[in-house]
Amino acid sequence: MSTQLDIDLDAEGRQFGTVTMPLNLAEGSGSQQVEMPIISLRSGAGPTLVLTGGVHGDEYEGPVALAELGRTLDLRHVNGHIIIMPTANGLAFLAGKRNTPQDGGNLNRAFPGTIDGTFTSRLAHFIETELLARADYTADFHGGGEILDFLPSTLFVVTGDAAEDQKRMDLAAAFGARHCMLFGFKTMGVEVGIDAAMLRQGVIGISGEYGGSAALGIETLDICRQGVRRLLAYTGIVRPEMPPPLAIEPTLVDVREEESYVVAPCEGVFEPVVELGGFVQGGSPVARMHRPDRPAEEAEIVHARCDGIVMAMRARAKSSPNDWLFVIGRPVRL
Ligand SMILES: [Zn+2]
Repeated sequence: MSTQLDIDLDAEGRQFGTVTMPLNLAEGSGSQQVEMPIISLRSGAGPTLVLTGGVHGDEYEGPVALAELGRTLDLRHVNGHIIIMPTANGLAFLAGKRNTPQDGGNLNRAFPGTIDGTFTSRLAHFIETELLARADYTADFHGGGEILDFLPSTLFVVTGDAAEDQKRMDLAAAFGARHCMLFGFKTMGVEVGIDAAMLRQGVIGISGEYGGSAALGIETLDICRQGVRRLLAYTGIVRPEMPPPLAIEPTLVDVREEESYVVAPCEGVFEPVVELGGFVQGGSPVARMHRPDRPAEEAEIVHARCDGIVMAMRARAKSSPNDWLFVIGRPVRL
């Protein structure tokens, strides 16, 4: 049995449906099928917006804001099609983990995926070929999960094509987070999967990092709730009688260079000495690594590797060598 969808995405109206995917026996015991919610809101001939949350299962603002949107948006205001997967990786969400426990897969590294691969690979394939392939616009919602806290920020992959990049920049500005991170196709040696999928499918799309610590933040949830409504207004999917909220010009920060990433130099207890959103200078101290189990040892000082804004910070004290401690974004212009 392959992936099944129990609603007709071409039909008008509000539909709460299920994406059902088999779980190979080798990938785990228990349930043979995994069911993940999908919502379709369709009215009129306007553009299609695909919204995904929970690509990582320990990030919560997106899933909550998107599920809420799916059940509360008044269809009478809609001119277009909104497809929502609030908990895109249903298995990871149930486990409260970043990756799929049954196959170890990171959905955001699994794109484009394959039709007959692991659960995570098949899920990536479904999202790219069945959902993103239909989309004019898309937004994917992330957070820092269990290990990081992010300054709320949209992000997109810079292609180098000025007109294309501007479209994504405008979408990020419409969303309204105060910062926007510029990513490369590969950042820190890893591909940002769903963002590459957006580009392959010719979709104008953004992702974003909102909050972290595997918690649901009041401010970050509010940014997601409002941001997604702003996207609906910006894309013209909600009719003009709903006044579009004002967009703000976000501070663009570049996180493409390796210097943006400060990692733990040693085993230890991480003490940040700068705050999320603060500005640091290259070479200045940003953390101390303590060894309380070796009380005679001085704490090791960790330094920033470039000037910039503290966009993300490790959410846990106990750290091992090469764990990310900070992501420092260099303010730039597009
Ligand atoms: Zn994530």
